[in-house]
Amino acid sequence: MMSIKIPFNKPYLCGNELKYIEQAVQSGKISGDGVFTKRCHEWFEQKYRFKKCFLTTSCTDALEMAAILINIQPGDEVIMPSYTFVSTANAFVLRGAKITFVDSSLYEPNMDISQIEPLITPKTKAIVVVHYAGVACDMDAVLHLAHKHNLYVIEDAAQAIDSYYKGRPLGSIGHLAAFSFHETKNIISGEGGMLVVNDDRFVKRAEIIREKGTNRSQFFRGEVDKYGWVDIGSSFLPSDIIAAFLYAQLEHIQDIQKQRKYIWDTYYTALKPLSEKGYFTLPYIPDYATNNYHMFYILCRNLEERTALTNYLKNKGILAVFHYLPLEQSVYYKDKHDGRTLPHSTRYADTLLRLPLYYELNDSNIKLITDSINEFFNTL
Ligand SMILES: *Cc1c(COP(=O)(O)O)cnc(C)c1O
Repeated sequence: MMSIKIPFNKPYLCGNELKYIEQAVQSGKISGDGVFTKRCHEWFEQKYRFKKCFLTTSCTDALEMAAILINIQPGDEVIMPSYTFVSTANAFVLRGAKITFVDSSLYEPNMDISQIEPLITPKTKAIVVVHYAGVACDMDAVLHLAHKHNLYVIEDAAQAIDSYYKGRPLGSIGHLAAFSFHETKNIISGEGGMLVVNDDRFVKRAEIIREKGTNRSQFFRGEVDKYGWVDIGSSFLPSDIIAAFLYAQLEHIQDIQKQRKYIWDTYYTALKPLSEKGYFTLPYIPDYATNNYHMFYILCRNLEERTALTNYLKNKGILAVFHYLPLEQSVYYKDKHDGRTLPHSTRYADTLLRLPLYYELNDSNIKLITDSINEFFNTL
């Protein structure tokens, strides 16, 4: 087998990351909530009108904070898609929730909102939406259900930075939202995340939960004269070194998004003729959603063909990947699931193939990838 020439992902450095890390180090305060953390918070609150932002060490952490904030108790039910990353579910399971998984839509991997209402019971506490590939779920429909049944809405916006639903930034719509800056996302800090609080009722407690259940933030602002243990919590805040890296990325978000759009559009144009012959399906973006170019994927006709194509590309040195075993079929959850089959989630798990998409992917890389896909289908 050939060595990998085109990896699936390559973290992109914008240029000022090390400079800002040095500044953070020299400022003499490199624990959480330093100068760069505050700059990142302000940047997000201004650009996307998020009510209150809290950097965390991961999106997983932000989701765990969300589960604590809405007071999930053992036996509470939380509705979410089956086709998602484990953290979406784990954060709520840690607090004793039972997860009700919803199938994907016929047209796209996002949750089929029309299937939610019959699954709501008196124990249901929240709907967690995942904006897969940064493409919005139909949030008006979700908000309508949430309002009618008095449920919280949490956005797992891990992949959804700089994307919109009917003009509203993703992450600004639910009561709470969680973003990821893991190195595979559009904007990165290695590991990293952020909790967005859009409902004032949660702001004060979010600050406490993030600081190990203490009112240390109030103490630092001089609002209390000593700080202590006032709630449950954990150490969810990142070092200012992480925030320094992140801030360097945020300064270049426009350039990053422009380059990702170029790559995405180039793939789309090059692969359209094959998709029109019926070999695979290209991503579908509903009218109400924008594309933030987080991911380029194709949907193969079946698992066998995806496996063969993946191997064909690997032999050319190209790493394309698939992901998400439907969570209700996972080793951990299969005995706890209510037994409903979720055919579309399984179909995406079997047929979705993600192509390399990173800033430094150049025209000749893209051509090698799309030419190889062409060759594969022309020799079928
Ligand atoms: C990446 C991702 C996460 C986890 O993000 P971390 O920052 O690695 O914790 C959660 N949910 C979804 C949908 C993701 O894509």
